[in-house]
Parts: sequence; structure tokens; C-alpha cells
Amino acid sequence: MTRQPRVAVVGAGLAGLTAGLALAKRGWRVDLYERSRLLGGKATSFEVDGHEVDCGQHVVLACCTATLDLIEELGLSDSLYIQPRFEVTVLSRRRPPAHLRASALPAPLHLMAGFAHYPHLSTLDRIQVGSALVAARGDRTPKGDMAAWLRRHHQSTRALRAFWEPFLVPALNAPLDRVSAEMGLFVIRTAFLGDRDAARIAYLTVPLARLAEAAAARLDGVHLRQAVVGLHRQGDRVTGVKLSGGAGAACDACVIAVPPTRLSAILEDAPASGFDGLGAFAAMPIVDVHLWYDRPVLGCDFAALLNSPVQWVFEKSPGYVCCSLSAADDLVQRPERELVELARSELASVLPQAARARLLRGAATRDPDATFIPAPGVHRPGATTALPNLVIAGAWTDTGWPATIESAVRSGQTAALTLFSKIAGWSSAKGGRSGDAALEVARAV
Ligand SMILES: Cc1cc2nc3c(=O)[nH]c(=O)nc-3n(C[C@H](O)[C@H](O)[C@H](O)COP(=O)(O)OP(=O)(O)OC[C@H]3O[C@@H](n4cnc5c(N)ncnc54)[C@H](O)[C@@H]3O)c2cc1C
Repeated sequence: MTRQPRVAVVGAGLAGLTAGLALAKRGWRVDLYERSRLLGGKATSFEVDGHEVDCGQHVVLACCTATLDLIEELGLSDSLYIQPRFEVTVLSRRRPPAHLRASALPAPLHLMAGFAHYPHLSTLDRIQVGSALVAARGDRTPKGDMAAWLRRHHQSTRALRAFWEPFLVPALNAPLDRVSAEMGLFVIRTAFLGDRDAARIAYLTVPLARLAEAAAARLDGVHLRQAVVGLHRQGDRVTGVKLSGGAGAACDACVIAVPPTRLSAILEDAPASGFDGLGAFAAMPIVDVHLWYDRPVLGCDFAALLNSPVQWVFEKSPGYVCCSLSAADDLVQRPERELVELARSELASVLPQAARARLLRGAATRDPDATFIPAPGVHRPGATTALPNLVIAGAWTDTGWPATIESAVRSGQTAALTLFSKIAGWSSAKGGRSGDAALEVARAV
């Protein structure tokens, strides 16, 4: 008589949920443990003043194929907005709203043609941005940080403010001197240089938590408010998770999908599990300010703001706007009323209709640990650990993508595949047949 292998997934963010989903599809019994009362981790929603709001506006691009596939698999495609063509409205104090649009030409000419009508760049800036894009395509081993790379490629302050920063800072959630040129160029190549449709902006039109809820509904056991504080081991194998409050739960294998600091606490002896340098990941904050006006204020679904701490604004329903402030180190500790006033006055300075509208209420959501970036020279770990039936996942791990939803989803998929093949390999080494690895595991456990 065989039984399904039982896996404990720690962390109900999109990394843990994707890993759990992938293992459940292969017939594993998945128990999900989450310390908070909410599903989705950083990508969740909650009530503020009687309104369900996302913890912060999340967008993905059309090149985030793993996320888009997940949305489809979970039956939420009808709730996904995706631009037919890349186009952004750009707001500034000094000029009327401008538009940066991709043309129908193949990449990267699709952008070059768009620059021709973009008033925030001079002719020289356009030439220099264009030549940096061409250089980005060829530079496979860039050195140093992204700000230095852009300086080396002669980007003017105006080009930084009007093009590079509005796209790269939110995508990387870091000032450009804090991220490697390698990661910056990955974003440029993936979004702007491969396929002319890759940078199309997409987001869910329902609260973000629906995605996590749909994934969790396909798992066997979902245990909210259950923090995992350690692992039970026999030799080098994990045999269960220790829960806060003293209880434990047995498992045949484990996926830990939590931020780096929490991973270190759960592992107790991280270096012995194959992890050095978990302390070398810096948390980067994001602040979102939610404003409810007595009327619509934006005139479009979303826009970028130039030379403003509010980088992007989304009108999520008529009169309700969410202002996104990435890499918000200097703002995250500010009191809510200051943040609300800051966002209100920034919008009023670029949108006459926002200046005229009455603000009914405002709220700020702050996440000091929104994303994690490695210190220079530190490598992000992959899914594998020194323990044969333990893998890790998380947007901050080595997926090749910046710490985003796409990275979380890809890391979850990789963790599931790694665990599956490790366990299957372990089972085969013990004399199991090749073939359906789940059955192999079932025999082995
Ligand atoms: C405000 C904001 C805006 C963002 N905007 C974007 C965006 O526009 N586009 C984009 O792609 N990305 C965006 N991101 C980043 C994206 O949300 C994250 O990179 C991604 O969701 C992280 O997923 P994860 O599963 O790796 O980690 P998390 O979401 O952090 O999940 C980890 C989970 O583990 C749980 N946990 C921790 N310790 C324990 C424990 N001991 N026991 C049990 N559970 C534990 C946590 O409570 C959490 O639920 C944004 C993030 C924030 C905060």
C-alpha cells in the first residue's frame, strides 16, 4: 500500500503557494504553514477603512510569463488587465501629460520611434538612450552597479529622470547605485530589447489576495497563524516542522519559502544547511498611499510621475487612487498623515483635476521589507540545500529575476522540481524504479 508523500510548505507567499501547487499537481499531500492570518505574503490585500485594498499596487509585465501562466491556471485570466501595446502616460510639473508609446516596429526600434514624440528627452538624450539600449543588448558581463553603468554610457541627468529611473527603480525596488548592472541590464533586455510586446503592463483588477486564495484552495491543509520556528531532523533528513506554541507536524519533505532573515531563524544553523551570508541581504521598503477623492482625478488607468517621490499612480476605481513609492528608505518611517499629504500635494501639482477634487480620506501602507537585495558580491542561493529533502524558495533567491512576483513564482516552480527530482533520485538510489517519481517517493517513505 503506497501513500502520498507529505510535504510541509512554510510561507504562504507566491513562492510557497506556487511550490505547493506544483507538488499537489504531482499527487503530493501539501500542508501549508503561514505565520500571519493572511494568504499571499507581500502580495496580499486587507481592509482599510472598510475598503479592501492591496498591500501595495502590484504590476507585472507581459514578459512575466510564469506569473501570467499561474493567473491563467488559477482561473483569473478574466480579472487580468494587460495592455494591447506598451504605453505610459507621464506626468510632470512643467509640461502637459506626455506619452511614451511603443510603435509597431520590432524591438528595439519600437521604443526609438516612441522616443521621437516624448518631450522629456532632447535629441541628444534620445541618441544616447538609444545607444545605451544597443550597448545593453551586447554587454553580457557588466561590472559594477547600474548607476555607474549608465554613467559610463553617457546618460544625462534628464535621461535618468525621464526614462531610466521611472522604469528601473520600481522594477528593481532600489536606487540604481544599490543594484548590480547585471540585474539592471537583465530588466532592460527582458522588458525592452527582446520582444516589442514584452513591456506591456499588466495587473489584476480584483484584490491581489484572490490569487493566493485560489492557489491555497488547491492544497490539502492550510494552516494560518502557524509560524514554523524550527525543523525536526533525523540525521540529514527533515522529518517535521516545529510550530510556535510547541506543537510539531511530521513531513516527508519540506519547502521553506520565507524571507532570508526568517530562513536563518528556522534553520537554526544556516551554514550547516548550506547557507552562508543570509545576513547580507538588505531589505528595501515600499510605501503606498491610498487616496479617496470625491471624483475621478487621473483621466487614465495609471501614470508615471517625473521628479516626484510618487513614481506611479493608479486609479483603481473612479476617485480611488493608489500612489506607489518604491525604494522608499527615507519615507517608510514617516507618519501616515505626512505621507498622505505628500502624495496629495504631489498629485495636485501635476493633475489640475486632483487639485480641484476633495480628498475624502487617505491611508498609507508601508512595508519596510518589501523586497531583498544582496550586498555587492553576494550570490543569491538556489533552491537546493545540504539536506536532501529540504528546498528553499522566495523572490530573493537565485532566479535570475529581480525580487518580484515573477521571481517568487519561478522560485516556487524550481523548488518543487528540485525537491521532486531530489526525492526521486534518493528513492532510486535506494533501489526504486525510475518512472513516476511520486510513486517512487511513496515507496520510499
Ligand atoms: C508594497 C509592495 C509592492 C510591490 N510591488 C510589486 C510589483 O509591482 N510587482 C512585482 O512583481 N512585485 C512587487 N512586489 C514584490 C513582490 O510582492 C514580492 O517579491 C513577492 O510577492 C514575494 O513573494 P515570496 O513568496 O518570495 O515572499 P513573501 O511574500 O514575503 O512570503 C513569505 C511568507 O512567509 C511567511 N513567513 C515568514 N516566516 C514564517 C514562519 N516562520 N513560519 C510560517 N510562515 C512564515 C510570511 O508571513 C509570508 O507570508 C511588491 C511588494 C510590496 C510589499
